[in-house]
Amino acid sequence: MPVTVTPVPCLSDNYAWLLRAPDGRLAVCDPGEAAPIAAAVDAAGGKLDLILLTHHHGDHVGGVAELVARYGAKVVGAAADAHRLPPLDVAVAPGQAIDVVGVPVQVLASDGHTRGHIAFHFPDCAILLCGDTLFSLGCGRLLEGTPDEMFESLHRLSVLPPETLVCCGHEYSESNARFALTVEPGNASLRARADEIARQRAEGKPTVPTTIGEENAANPFMRAKDVATLARIRAAKDNFR
Ligand code: ZN
Ligand code: FE
Repeated sequence: MPVTVTPVPCLSDNYAWLLRAPDGRLAVCDPGEAAPIAAAVDAAGGKLDLILLTHHHGDHVGGVAELVARYGAKVVGAAADAHRLPPLDVAVAPGQAIDVVGVPVQVLASDGHTRGHIAFHFPDCAILLCGDTLFSLGCGRLLEGTPDEMFESLHRLSVLPPETLVCCGHEYSESNARFALTVEPGNASLRARADEIARQRAEGKPTVPTTIGEENAANPFMRAKDVATLARIRAAKDNFR
């Protein structure tokens, strides 16, 4: 694997993702705050080249200005959302290919949580940075997009190679597992994954990255067969305590 990816906890339950190339170049996705990223970058002994943004929410962009000032990193985000993202050096559109720390990356449309949300797929490294579109055993709230858009976005992610690492924006797995078990109580993969999540949390470890294959087997939102099903379980999750 030419590039490694590590979660960096930010704020209360966010993850930024630090990408490291063998030559020491670094990139970060969705830095919700600067301090933990700067600590991780400095510990990696590197220089931050690039900041990738999946969407405009403050818990994903809050650290950008400080990291740009500190490292001179370039900022990559959706052209369609440029008006509400921090200033972009590279404005991208879905379908476009870009270079991130020396490897090719595909920009994928992933509307649903917001309109203009994008995901970054590293096909040669089996890495997916998906922001608040897909979570382990869950998906993002539909704050701007429609169930149709989220269904299409999740389908687009579900057909990526099963070994692809799902690097999502939040540690929501424990509550997602509780809800998912109400949807598919008889799903053995889901039960096994819920047990694993409980163990990981008890040890204070992140439950992510997970993989596309695991999510296809256990995540009821990824497994929804049609838009109506996705809409129904998304609405149920919104009211789940
Ligand atoms: Zn968000
Ligand atoms: Fe978020």
